Amino acid sequence: MSGNVHETTVERVTSLARGVVEWRFRLEPPEPLAFRPGQFVSVRVGEDAAGAAILRSYSIASSPGQPWFALILKLVPGGVASSWFERLQPGARVRFTGPMGFFVLDLQHPGDVVLGVTGVGITPALPMLRELLARPEPGKVRLYWGNRDAEDLFWQAELDELQRTHPRFEVRYFLSGPAPSWSGLRGRITPAVLADLAAFRQPVFYLVGNGAMIRELKAGLVERGVDRKKQVRNEAFFE
Ligand SMILES: Cc1cc2nc3c(=O)[nH]c(=O)nc-3n(C[C@H](O)[C@H](O)[C@H](O)COP(=O)(O)OP(=O)(O)OC[C@H]3O[C@@H](n4cnc5c(N)ncnc54)[C@H](O)[C@@H]3O)c2cc1C
Repeated sequence: MSGNVHETTVERVTSLARGVVEWRFRLEPPEPLAFRPGQFVSVRVGEDAAGAAILRSYSIASSPGQPWFALILKLVPGGVASSWFERLQPGARVRFTGPMGFFVLDLQHPGDVVLGVTGVGITPALPMLRELLARPEPGKVRLYWGNRDAEDLFWQAELDELQRTHPRFEVRYFLSGPAPSWSGLRGRITPAVLADLAAFRQPVFYLVGNGAMIRELKAGLVERGVDRKKQVRNEAFFE
């Protein structure tokens, strides 16, 4: 699943939440990018003093089959790629390799599917959910999405709509430092997933986002008898 070098053009830039921005790209000539939901691309965001390319990975935030694709960044203040992306306006040319990566859905699941996501880790999760929920699999699908506060949230309308139209899917939003007015769930996703473990039948876990969350949650699952190789897939965006 490794990819080729592509050139693409920025078509649209949209602010989605605090420090979260979507860039939409079109290939030239216009053609859909071949990938599986969950895969990422490696974008050339500059060169170092010796002239070597500086590369950063971004999960594809759109679904396959369209003449455009999207990347969504949580901008890191002072970050090399974040500063480069902030200057990217419609019409700019961008070079990337891929799509690539093995964080994709199993071809079928024996039981339930649980997604444990923090922050901008939601970018591959929504396209993966769309692929999963279009399948005739009977198992429950539950998304735990953790953020700091309500200003980090985006795509709630899309996720709520998936929940409304697919009775086997449930989304749970967790905030670790919400304003007093937040009436939803509080805290981190790791204890919540572990507390619910007994409710899942033969679950497969997809964990994506903050590397510390992935390590802790994976360790907790394995301690409780989950098979690390057969039942846990993960993609760490940063440590
Ligand atoms: C497979 C893969 C897919 C990824 N997909 C995405 C994606 O879809 N969207 C996205 O925004 N990022 C994604 N990342 C992270 C991305 O590659 C960069 O690390 C991120 O954009 C910061 O790069 P930078 O050059 O701006 O910051 P840098 O100058 O490289 O570093 C700044 C610091 O910020 C930390 N950091 C990186 N990301 C975050 C974050 N989200 N929150 C807090 N601290 C952070 C780094 O650990 C580092 O210490 C992905 C990473 C991987 C490995």
